[in-house]
Amino acid sequence: MELSREQLLRMYPKLENPPVAVKHTELKRTGSSAYRSECPFCPEGVLLVRRDQKTMLLLREDNCIGCGQHVVYTDDSIAEESFSS
Ligand SMILES: [Zn+2]
Repeated sequence: MELSREQLLRMYPKLENPPVAVKHTELKRTGSSAYRSECPFCPEGVLLVRRDQKTMLLLREDNCIGCGQHVVYTDDSIAEESFSS
């Protein structure tokens, strides 16, 4: 089943907000992962850090799984791993 834009925006209210540049090192880690961060834009959300599906390299673009906010990481690396670009 495909979700309509309205349904997506109900689930992820910040999905269409403009991207925000964030520093991964300045976000609060959550759980035991060196990658997962608390979302600074909503109370429960988590930023997981994405990978390129082919190369498995880290991607700078990410979306909160709670509110949908689009972020762009400005760090040189995360957990000593470089980005794909
Ligand atoms: Zn969020």
